Amino acid sequence: MKARLYFVISLVWLSLATFVHAQTPSREIALTFDDLPAAGMGVTGAETLEMTAKLLGTLREQRIPAVGFVNERKLYRQFGEVDQRIKALSMWLEYGFELGNHTYSHASLSRVRLKDWEEEVVRGETVTSLLMGQHNMKMRYFRHPYLDTGRDLQTRREAEAFLVGRGYRIAPVTMDAWDWMYAGVYEDARKRGDATLQQQLLNSYLEYTGQVFDFYEKFSKNLIGYEPKQVLLLHGNWLEADHIGDLLELLRKRGYKFITLQDALSDAAYSMPDDFVGEEGTNWIDHWAITRGHPPMNTPVFPQWVVDRSKALPRPPTQP
Ligand SMILES: [Zn+2]
Repeated sequence: MKARLYFVISLVWLSLATFVHAQTPSREIALTFDDLPAAGMGVTGAETLEMTAKLLGTLREQRIPAVGFVNERKLYRQFGEVDQRIKALSMWLEYGFELGNHTYSHASLSRVRLKDWEEEVVRGETVTSLLMGQHNMKMRYFRHPYLDTGRDLQTRREAEAFLVGRGYRIAPVTMDAWDWMYAGVYEDARKRGDATLQQQLLNSYLEYTGQVFDFYEKFSKNLIGYEPKQVLLLHGNWLEADHIGDLLELLRKRGYKFITLQDALSDAAYSMPDDFVGEEGTNWIDHWAITRGHPPMNTPVFPQWVVDRSKALPRPPTQP
């Protein structure tokens, strides 16, 4: 009798588990972090090390692959701290992560001449490629600053040919919840010890992230028939270092598994026609939609109070 009861219980449990599994779609996403060694303007060399160790510690513990994109000019922000910043970059490689190029000084393709922009790409390789060589790695990914792929198609294609010629694969982005807009306000609150504001910012950031994912998961399904393997744009900042665990939990609840950028880019979506041009960069789902003549409508609205707080900072951040 007891055995029979156990059998019934396990049968109910099994069907319940199958039901829950069916309700959670299997989704995949690769994490990328831009503006290394640290996105924030006022972050010292020592803080950069501390922040990097915290961020990478969580990622390593949870076995999450990630690629970090470097602006080498940031290494020389304050004289005397160069070593610490280089050490922070090395940490990415020692922990088993990968680095890519984000140009030397975060140059926008629409705002500089193509030749100067190409110089920026080459100059952005100096230290990073040396560090990668020490780990028997070669730089293979490039991320456009401001996601700016060029204001006209000829410039865009010439820049792409240049990057391919130097051995790069362009790293697109499909998901972006503007963590950089939160990060400046968050770092200011952190410095002042304002825990209430930090929590409000975190709540808002996670809520907005949820809205962005809701929107683009549905939108991509309508546009291309399925949800592609996603690429998430994040930045090297204290918001992510302190709370990447919360973000990972949110994504897991949505059914996401964490994959390498290489795996994500194997999705056929990334070979679809893409003729997007414009001075304002945007994500690749928008690129595909605009190319097909179906630009996204009614995208989630970014919380205005965060924009206002950000603008009121002594040194308001510019879009990275
Ligand atoms: Zn950037």
